[in-house]
Amino acid sequence: MRLRIRRVPPSGVLEGVDLRPFSFREGRLYEVDPPVAKVLLAWGYAERHPSAVAMQLAIQPRSCSKCGSEQTTVMGQSENPPLAHVHCGNCGYISLHALL
Ligand SMILES: [Zn+2]
Repeated sequence: MRLRIRRVPPSGVLEGVDLRPFSFREGRLYEVDPPVAKVLLAWGYAERHPSAVAMQLAIQPRSCSKCGSEQTTVMGQSENPPLAHVHCGNCGYISLHALL
């Protein structure tokens, strides 16, 4: 199950589930087993793989790397390498921004 970490769990073990192998980072996507996902969701530490709308909110507004316009929309993202695909509403250029 694919999840996005909202907050890093303060403890390495939650309800008997060992979280230490994952080295979670806030805002990152992880593919985890259902028992792990259930605990993280129940405690509010993670949410299900975000929709396009949620991704837009999660990613800081980016300016177009071609014309510099701020009228941009996040079209999607890739995880490897971690890049956001940002569409410019002004010139139509799609630029890639590193997700850090
Ligand atoms: Zn542009």
